[in-house]
Amino acid sequence: MATLRFHAVKKSMAHKPISYTPKGRRSDIFGQNVFNENTMRQYLTKDAFENVINAIKDGKKIDRSVADQVASSMKDWALTKGVTHYTHWFQPLTGATAEKHDAFFETLGEGLSIEKFDGNQLVQQEPDASSFPSGGIRNTFEARGYTAWDPSSPAFIYGTTLCIPTIFVAYTGEALDYKTPLLRALNAVDKAATEVCKYFDKNIKKVTSSLGWEQEYFLIDKSLAASRPDITLTGRTLLGHAPAKGQQLDDHYFGSIPNRALNFMRDLEDECMLLGIPVKTRHNEVAPNQFELAPIFEEANLAVDHNSLLMDIMGRVASKHHFKVLLHEKPFAGINGSGKHNNWSLSTDTGVNLLKPGKTPMSNLQFLTFFVNTIKAVHDHEELLRAAIASASNDHRLGANEAPPAILSVFIGTQLTKVLDELEGVTKGKLSPEEKTELKLNVIGKIPDVLLDNTDRNRTSPFAFTGNKFEFRAVGSMANCGNPMTVLNTIVAKQLKDFKIEVDKLIDKKDLKKDEAIFNVIREYIKASKNILFEGNGYSEAWEKEAKKRGLSNNKTTPEALKAKISEKALKLFQDLDVMSEIETKARYEIEIEAYSMHIQIEGRVLGDIARNHIVPTAVKYQNVLIENVQGLKAIFEGEFKNIAKEQIGLIQAISEHIEGINTNVTKMITARKKANAIENPEEKALAYCHKVKPLFDDIRYHCDKLELLVDDEVWPLTKYRELLFTR
Ligand code: ADP
Ligand code: MG
Repeated sequence: MATLRFHAVKKSMAHKPISYTPKGRRSDIFGQNVFNENTMRQYLTKDAFENVINAIKDGKKIDRSVADQVASSMKDWALTKGVTHYTHWFQPLTGATAEKHDAFFETLGEGLSIEKFDGNQLVQQEPDASSFPSGGIRNTFEARGYTAWDPSSPAFIYGTTLCIPTIFVAYTGEALDYKTPLLRALNAVDKAATEVCKYFDKNIKKVTSSLGWEQEYFLIDKSLAASRPDITLTGRTLLGHAPAKGQQLDDHYFGSIPNRALNFMRDLEDECMLLGIPVKTRHNEVAPNQFELAPIFEEANLAVDHNSLLMDIMGRVASKHHFKVLLHEKPFAGINGSGKHNNWSLSTDTGVNLLKPGKTPMSNLQFLTFFVNTIKAVHDHEELLRAAIASASNDHRLGANEAPPAILSVFIGTQLTKVLDELEGVTKGKLSPEEKTELKLNVIGKIPDVLLDNTDRNRTSPFAFTGNKFEFRAVGSMANCGNPMTVLNTIVAKQLKDFKIEVDKLIDKKDLKKDEAIFNVIREYIKASKNILFEGNGYSEAWEKEAKKRGLSNNKTTPEALKAKISEKALKLFQDLDVMSEIETKARYEIEIEAYSMHIQIEGRVLGDIARNHIVPTAVKYQNVLIENVQGLKAIFEGEFKNIAKEQIGLIQAISEHIEGINTNVTKMITARKKANAIENPEEKALAYCHKVKPLFDDIRYHCDKLELLVDDEVWPLTKYRELLFTR
């Protein structure tokens, strides 16, 4: 009997909902474990408080003496909450979060000891982190990098540890993490957008980029998940026949949340509240056992930190509820995968969302300026944006006819399309008073009404305007949002800078009025970026053809997609905007391309092992039972047995064919892997993994899945899809 599988199923059935006791009213517990403004007010002197707030709001430097005071207050606050350790918390280029805990505890000699934490320890640390990927920036001899405090993301307590969000940089100055380039990109978009805002309101001093992510995930019983080596080692199932019932009936979507899952969510949400992550929405997703969690949007750097933190604590809370969280983009074949919509907008320090239509023609001109510039930015850099979300796991969605295609396009809805069409007809140069009035009254004046009934949301679009924000939907569920947010904010910053130059030129050289100049530039942008607008079905073959005609990229696999990162254009872009130096950009490319090969390599090994060591022996065992049966029938029925044992003999043959299919393809795969491993060039190696190794997964899986249907359920060793997906 398949002991492990049945043991796991039995255990999973014994898993009852873990009781949940609310930690308090949400508004009361919100941010309790965060060293936020409120806490700082209580613990810091007025001067120190203001110094820190200025650092957060304007990026000003924090005085050394203030850092000492902040550190000491953080420690005092943390000690009241039973904290013993502190850590610099950062996001290395593995995409996960990293921490190394040190105790506050220090000895003073002669048996005396104290709790100590000073400014030096707060501001900078040198973790021995030489094993994190650096894309060759640090060779291992000079394996020193340091972490430095990011005051714009508040320190928080997790468990008994005080966590201080930090950047991670090499001693030579290059960023070794996702946060540093993000902060630089946010700074770039702030500067560029603020300049453009001044056309409309001179009082605007700062523009902030906002992010609201929507995290999709699967919840699987922990024992069942642990019984599958593929889930344990790769985060997804590499084989498994589709269950008789999948998601056809759509009976899971927005359905009532099962109690076990609900208690997990409540627990998780309480943890989020304590940590100041403003989670708000939870619901069932399309696939069985698939769910979504979304917060209220926040400033982008904080939102990225919060999402990284969330992904970490999800796993811990899940474990308490005997669940395993699968963040992989495609844990189960034939069933919807998971994404992480990144809702993005820009807002001013005067409280205006620049992507929200306003009440006056002037505020709508401001809206249109940012709206059209964003579209133009995506148009000009679609391939780079695609590269920002490329990973081995996200290829299962983007390249495979599943929620958004690999072709980047922008959806804006019919009404805004009409507005853009009209603006395209604006006269070149000076506008007559009649035309100005017409534009103000009937074109841009009408936008707010228009949007109210703009409810048709195209779910297949990878980049959609949804009323007051753009939704970048192609981001993978496992991804660190830092990467796509860096690229999006950088391309918009670049675009806004160009816009400002062009408008100023028209004002200076052609003597146009400000609004005339803006209309003129917008008109040209609309014309130039039309190709990126698409309202139809993103999954259709017709769109693939059409997109090709329009010259849009369609990079279905990560090795192909990533190349855009190191194009001359991209290198220059990041450099010009001070987001990443050429070395930093190339290092990330190298890391990502190598990570791709390693992922496929690991999956290949795991699949080969399971197929040969679990599936084939099981099939042989069952085949022997059949053979024994046929021999018995032969003994009883002699000459007639062939007719009587027809089905069994057919089965014996079919099993042999599939065993053969597995063995030849595994052998082929191993050979292909060996060849790929021998390739020195990381890019060619990734391509070999992509086009020579990976396709064999499907052939191996095909035979394994067929055997799953043929072999006695009692002996099948791997927990089946129906058990993984429907056990509550
Ligand atoms: P859905 O897209 O699923 O219909 P919503 O539109 O309500 O859901 O919001 C999804 C996410 O978008 C939430 O995290 C929400 O906070 C965020 N969001 C709403 N407005 C903005 C905005 N102006 N900028 C960034 N994110 C936003
Ligand atoms: Mg959404």
